[in-house]
Amino acid sequence: MITLDNVSKVYKIGRERKIFALTEVSATLQSGEFVAVVGPSGSGKSTFLAMSGLLDKPTEGKILFDGKDVTGLSDQERTAIRAGRCGFIFQFPSLIPTLNALENVLLPRTINRNYDKKDNEWGREVLERVGLGDKLENLPYQLSGGEQRRVALARSLINNPDIILADEPTGAVDEQNAKLIIDLFKELNQQGKMIIMVTHDLTLAQQAERIIELENSRIVQDIVRENHV
Ligand code: ADP
Ligand code: MG
Repeated sequence: MITLDNVSKVYKIGRERKIFALTEVSATLQSGEFVAVVGPSGSGKSTFLAMSGLLDKPTEGKILFDGKDVTGLSDQERTAIRAGRCGFIFQFPSLIPTLNALENVLLPRTINRNYDKKDNEWGREVLERVGLGDKLENLPYQLSGGEQRRVALARSLINNPDIILADEPTGAVDEQNAKLIIDLFKELNQQGKMIIMVTHDLTLAQQAERIIELENSRIVQDIVRENHV
């Protein structure tokens, strides 16, 4: 469970200018919930995701993680929580061009330690899960945009997180790949994972059980859809 309690995020540009990326945002995201975050460009969606996934600290307000106040934690402490719990899919897949698909997926495992055979098998398994079992050794340039996105998705699953945070996961991806990605989110959600998905695609947002809409850095609507299947 993640709670944003009256969270504001302000960026200072030089001495004078302030940008209000999030303003007095409150929301509790339940375990196992599938939430879509929508709104126009610049409305604060990515900032909302960064706050929810403990990537950054709010300027004002509190963030609770499973009921525990994590607002005052150091970067290192936040990183430790994030590593075990959160899988991120960023807006741009950001794969390392000189590493193949499997190596890219295993990258989060190599930080702070060497990976072993078991990791390798699990890496294969998550790549199979996103339908890329036959492209383990392809370098990013040998993959289509949609496939690269799926490698990023596989990478986000490598530490078996219970929260998946995705920023425009189907942006600039063809329809077939978009469907694959969204179907996988649904499946992961059915297995109990919390999905927080930023999108400006309203049709896609309809796939989620809850839609949080941002406008000018504020939540203007937060609806849980009934009869959601
Ligand atoms: P969205 O994802 O909805 O497009 P963002 O959360 O990325 O919106 O950004 C909200 C506002 O905050 C935008 O005006 C953006 O330019 C600004 N912003 C985001 N990150 C930074 C930053 N690191 N420094 C300055 N301004 C930022
Ligand atoms: Mg964004």
